[in-house]
Amino acid sequence: MKKIAILGSTGSIGRQALEVIKNRRDAFCVSALGAGNNVELLIEQIKEFEPEIVSVKSEENANILKKLFPTKKILTDGIVDIAKDANYDEVLVSVNGISGLFPTLEAIKRGKTVALANKETLVTAGDIVMAEARKNNVNIIPVDSEHSAIFQCSNNGKYVSKLIITASGGPFLYKTIDEMRNATKEQTLAHPNWNMGNKITIDSATLMNKGLEVIEAHHLFNKDYDDIKVVIHPQSIVHSAIEFVDGSVIAQMGLPSMHLPIQYALTYPERIEGIKTNSFNFVQARELDFYEPDFEKFSALKIAFDAGRTGGTAPAVLNGANEEAVYAFLDGKIRLTDIADITKEVLEKMKIIQNPTLDNILAADKLARIHAKNLIEQVRV
Ligand code: MG
Repeated sequence: MKKIAILGSTGSIGRQALEVIKNRRDAFCVSALGAGNNVELLIEQIKEFEPEIVSVKSEENANILKKLFPTKKILTDGIVDIAKDANYDEVLVSVNGISGLFPTLEAIKRGKTVALANKETLVTAGDIVMAEARKNNVNIIPVDSEHSAIFQCSNNGKYVSKLIITASGGPFLYKTIDEMRNATKEQTLAHPNWNMGNKITIDSATLMNKGLEVIEAHHLFNKDYDDIKVVIHPQSIVHSAIEFVDGSVIAQMGLPSMHLPIQYALTYPERIEGIKTNSFNFVQARELDFYEPDFEKFSALKIAFDAGRTGGTAPAVLNGANEEAVYAFLDGKIRLTDIADITKEVLEKMKIIQNPTLDNILAADKLARIHAKNLIEQVRV
C-alpha cells in the first residue's frame, strides 16, 4: 500500500488524483492532504480518505477543522511542513503558483518521490530543483499530460534526440488575432478538449501554457531548446512524442484524460488497471491533424521560448508577469492579447540574473509582478 500525500487536494488535479485513489483503495492510501480555502470540499475529503495530517490556508479554517476532527493533526498554511514531516511514500504537488516550489524541494531533500503537477517549480527554479533531485537520487514524475507522455516514451532519456510537444491550439486556433484581441472571458475559458482550472485554461488559449511546458521539458529531460518542437494537434490524441537518434519516433496516445497521467505518476514504474476512458480507436478517429504553431498570433509561445533560452531569472520573470496579467484578464481589466504584451515588456524591463539563487528567483518573481501590475493599470480597459 503506497502512502500518498496530496498538496492541492481541492484543485482540479487533486480531485482527480483522489478519484484515482478511490478507485484503487487496495493500492493507495492518503496520509496527508493540503488545501487552500475550499474548506467544505476538504472536510468531505478528510471524512472519506482519513489522512493523518491536514493543512489548510487560513487559521480560521484550521480552527473549523480542529473542532470537527479533534484527533487529527491540523496545520495552518503547512504544506511545507507536510512535505518535511508527514509519513508518505510519494507526494503529489498540485498546488497553484510558485508556492509549489518549497514543498517540492523539501520532499526531494528527504529522498521522496515527487509527482509534479505544479508548473512553476521547474519553470522558475528548474536548475536548482533538478540538481537537488540528482543529488538525492529522487524521481520527479511529471503529471502534466505532455511530460507524462514524454516520460512514458523516453526510455530513461537514452538515445533521445528531440522532444515533440503537442498543443491543442485552444479555442482560438482557427480565429484571427483580432478575434483573439476582442475575446471575452467566457470564450477564452471554453477549452475544446480539456477541462482545467481557470489560470491554465487562459494560458492554453494564449499558448503560454505550452511555452511554460517547453521550459519544464527542457529541465525535466535535459534537452536544449533547439531540440524541443511544439506541434499543434487539435484532437489532443497524441499527447507528445520523442524522436530518437536513429530517427525512430515514439508517441504516447489516448483520449484526453488526466486520470491516466496522474495514476501513472503514482504507480511508476508499475502500471495498474485504473479508471479507464474508452480506448482510443484509430478507425473512428480517421484523421489526426498536425500544424506548425503561428508564433505571431500566439506570441506568448515565442516569448516563453526566448525566456527559456535566456535562462537565469528570465523564466521566473515570465511566469510572474504572465500570472498577474492572466488574473487581470480574468478580472476584466485587460484584453487577452495584452497578456503576452505585458509579459514581454516586463521581461525587457528587468535585469536578468544568471545562475540565480532561490532568493534571486523569488525577488525576480516579486519585482516582475510589481512591473506587471503597473502596466496593467496603464492599459486597463
Ligand atoms: Mg499540459
